Amino acid sequence: MRAVRHPLAVGAVGSVLALGAFALTLVTLVAARQDAIDHARDTSQSVISVLSSDVQRNFELADLSLQAVASGLRDPAVMRLDSEIRHKVLFDRSTTARYVSSISALDANGNSVEYGTGTPPKGNLSDRDYFLVHEHARNVGLYVSAPYLSRLRNGAPSIALSRRIDKADGSFGGVAVIAVNIEYFRQLLKQVAVGPHGSSLIIRSDGSVVARNPAMTGLTGFFILKSPTFRRMLDNPSGSYAARSPLDGVTRLYTFARIPGTPLIAVVAPAEADVLSAWRARSLMVGACALFVSVAFVIVVWLLAFALRDRAAMQSQLEHMAKTDSLTGLSNRRALDKVLVTEWQRMRRTGRDMSVLFIDADHFKKYNDEHGHALGDQALQRIAACLERHLRRPGDLAARYGGEEFVAVLPDTGTRGAHDVAEAIRREVEACHVGASPTSIPAVTVSIGCGTVDHSRDATLDAFMQRADAALYAAKTAGRNRVVMASPQRV
Ligand code: GH3
Ligand code: MG
Ligand code: MG
Repeated sequence: MRAVRHPLAVGAVGSVLALGAFALTLVTLVAARQDAIDHARDTSQSVISVLSSDVQRNFELADLSLQAVASGLRDPAVMRLDSEIRHKVLFDRSTTARYVSSISALDANGNSVEYGTGTPPKGNLSDRDYFLVHEHARNVGLYVSAPYLSRLRNGAPSIALSRRIDKADGSFGGVAVIAVNIEYFRQLLKQVAVGPHGSSLIIRSDGSVVARNPAMTGLTGFFILKSPTFRRMLDNPSGSYAARSPLDGVTRLYTFARIPGTPLIAVVAPAEADVLSAWRARSLMVGACALFVSVAFVIVVWLLAFALRDRAAMQSQLEHMAKTDSLTGLSNRRALDKVLVTEWQRMRRTGRDMSVLFIDADHFKKYNDEHGHALGDQALQRIAACLERHLRRPGDLAARYGGEEFVAVLPDTGTRGAHDVAEAIRREVEACHVGASPTSIPAVTVSIGCGTVDHSRDATLDAFMQRADAALYAAKTAGRNRVVMASPQRV
């Protein structure tokens, strides 16, 4: 118990430790949140690469078909064939591919001249973006159109893949075009698990939403993304970020990548709330437990700290009581004995002076008999107070030796100094009429025997004390109320 010098520091250190442990838990939980987000992003990236390769492969196949149509139409030998055979040569089996709604060739005016599934439908398509693009530029290659509602196929939402048909002289001869039903993209996106509130999209670099899962009515082909976050998708080939959707206000973790060789961007965006729901539930539980344990720890530590403090206070009180005289508040006999031994040894080591005073109240038995024990006690308390007033040096000690007898220890004090202190005490007791209460009660006086160590003769502490006690006895015999110096030790 003595080792705990500052009991409240136990509480403070315990609190800091608990706070540290709680902070560590919080840091771990925050790191786990980032892990959950990173994991979701990794998953989104692999989903996107699967989507991309599917679209890429289908577009490559479509492009091969378009190239076959474009080169076939340029070939006079093919054009001379019977229309049914020519049709088979031009369109092979590409029209049977899933979601390919039509494959056709338009002449330089935008009218269908060849149609994969039979007679070309009537209608002019010279206003379509893919037609205009190829009409005005030679080296566009494969062009992926903006989403549109088909005029020839009952308004089916589609996008067109197209290639320019050059005439023999290199001038514009029309367009070979494959219309892909947007259902293809929808079905593709439906295979992607994005959680209850997530979404996945295929968007075109002009901001038009080709397909979205879940579908949002009225969006496909007409909705153009204008949010600033969309700009990031255009400026970077791939990336990820968290943002609030302008469509439905849900915060999502967007991961996107350009589908190589196309103007399309695949976006997978699970909702942040879905990604973090497991983490949130776990964090709430772990955080609450950590908080509970930390608070409980702090409470226990402070209870312990206060208990230690009370115990330390009680202990020091007991220690004080063990060396204090209860009536006068001076040191008791036990403390005196200890100090005497210590001072004696020190005096021996240093060779410096040391004196003791034996102070005894005169005729105190009579005083008690005449005035009562209570007044006697008061007189003793006043003598004690008088002693304390005169023993001011740090090493000085005043103790109650027993009954009406006191001892003062005066380290570093020679004969003359000891005599002066003794005489001052005697005089003050006499002058302030210790114990003389109101008028008629006579004052108490003290007799003082005064001894100073003689280094050459005082061999032991006991012998020295006996010499001082003998001086007191001499003071009593000489008539009391006086100071008598101890005679030198006889050898
Ligand atoms: P002398 O001048 O020779 O010292 O005579 P004295 O009567 O003082 O000496 P004695 O030893 O005969 O008597 C001591 C008395 O001191 C006995 C007792 O009545 C009184 N006394 C001792 N202790 C206490 C105390 O604690 N309180 C009170 N009131 N009186 C005490
Ligand atoms: Mg006495
Ligand atoms: Mg006595």
